[in-house]
Amino acid sequence: MRILIIGAGIGGLTTALSLRAAGLDCVVVDSATALRPLGVGINLQPHAVRELTELGLGERLAATGVETTFMTFTDRFGGEILALPRGRSAGYRWPQYSIHRGELQMILLAAVKERVGPVRLGTRFETLRQDGDEVEVVLRDVTTGEALRERADVVVGADGVHSAVRARLHPGDDPLVWGGIRMWRGTAKGGPVMDGATVLVAGSNRSAKFVAYHISAADPRLVNWVAEVKVDEPGVVKEADWSRTGGLEDVARHYARWEHRHLDIRGLLAASERILEYPMCDREPLAWWGEGRVTLLGDAAHPMYPIGSNGGSQAVLDARVLARCLATSDDPAAALAAYEAERRPPTSALLLAHRSLPIEATISLVAERAPGGFADIADVLTAEELASMAAAQHGITDVDVRALNERESWSVR
Ligand SMILES: Cc1cc2nc3c(=O)[nH]c(=O)nc-3n(C[C@H](O)[C@H](O)[C@H](O)COP(=O)(O)OP(=O)(O)OC[C@H]3O[C@@H](n4cnc5c(N)ncnc54)[C@H](O)[C@@H]3O)c2cc1C
Repeated sequence: MRILIIGAGIGGLTTALSLRAAGLDCVVVDSATALRPLGVGINLQPHAVRELTELGLGERLAATGVETTFMTFTDRFGGEILALPRGRSAGYRWPQYSIHRGELQMILLAAVKERVGPVRLGTRFETLRQDGDEVEVVLRDVTTGEALRERADVVVGADGVHSAVRARLHPGDDPLVWGGIRMWRGTAKGGPVMDGATVLVAGSNRSAKFVAYHISAADPRLVNWVAEVKVDEPGVVKEADWSRTGGLEDVARHYARWEHRHLDIRGLLAASERILEYPMCDREPLAWWGEGRVTLLGDAAHPMYPIGSNGGSQAVLDARVLARCLATSDDPAAALAAYEAERRPPTSALLLAHRSLPIEATISLVAERAPGGFADIADVLTAEELASMAAAQHGITDVDVRALNERESWSVR
């Protein structure tokens, strides 16, 4: 079976490794002429780390990222609202890792080169046509401009938030839906942020929020930060470019009067070599992903707000389920339908749950009730309010600890 994967991001590369591990061959193409370690920090949840560990990458992850212990929410002064244990601290058998997105991609790429073969770079997907049991795909060599016609038995669109495969399958109105929050991101030497392994979340993106955490085992002083600021009313945006450069002053002015006791926010911003800017956006959940022998995966299928550590994590889960379905069926179209039936409902629900920004109301309540800060959160929120905030956060980031720890492996033996 010839499986063509469009996109060598986290999702496409994990799909290639998962297919290979399940005994299936594939080819990966990407429009980029070179894969460089782009982006900044992301978090991999224990359910994704389990899958990457089963692919033999556990040691590389541990040597590269930072094992996350806590996610701690504070107000803008650093008063602690809630601290939630993460990964093994929460009882999972697998850690959560905070890691540089580009370094994760390079770990996956090295494994793909070794186990599957080279990724065909500079090769852009343009269109496809299904013809009985085959898919005819038109790719373009971005250097020479030459059109390349290929035949495949299965095509996986893992081509990210601006997926051309998705646009081919779902032509028409499919805008980038924006809640009015702009994100600036960067890395800088600083910290330690709390214990050096905590994801610190300060404030609320109903006004301004600042997230900071360490991402590098090799460089323990490297801090990843994300500033999320409500700058406009909800609407749609035309463009969302993960690599767009942002301006220091555009972001710094929103934190000019912040004094956070655990974090030198203005110092971190000023020490960042490069600042990136991105609108916090998603797309409407699709009523169906794929058709026949073509499907979608990762951000191409379900782009969601990057607030719940789900961008990379859900793409990894998609990849593993897709490989299992394809390897355990004689009928590729039925396998893709089974994959979609398993993955579309939970990822659509997650997408909408992210969009509702479920914990922001409680954090805003803290700012309203204690505008000058607080000594003890029990003076500000009731135990019920705190419990419901914790439950809302669990709803977008976690799976049941026991269910994950005890479920059968998805590896195909
Ligand atoms: C450059 C870059 C930087 C990012 N930085 C961050 C970050 O800092 N923080 C964060 O939370 N998320 C970031 N993301 C998004 C994050 O990687 C995804 O949310 C998540 O990992 C799911 O990955 P994915 O594989 O579905 O998509 P992506 O990681 O977006 O990968 C998609 C791949 O498809 C390729 N591609 C696109 N169109 C075509 C085409 N027509 N033909 C062939 N190939 C195509 C792209 O070059 C890319 O390599 C970034 C994505 C990219 C591409």
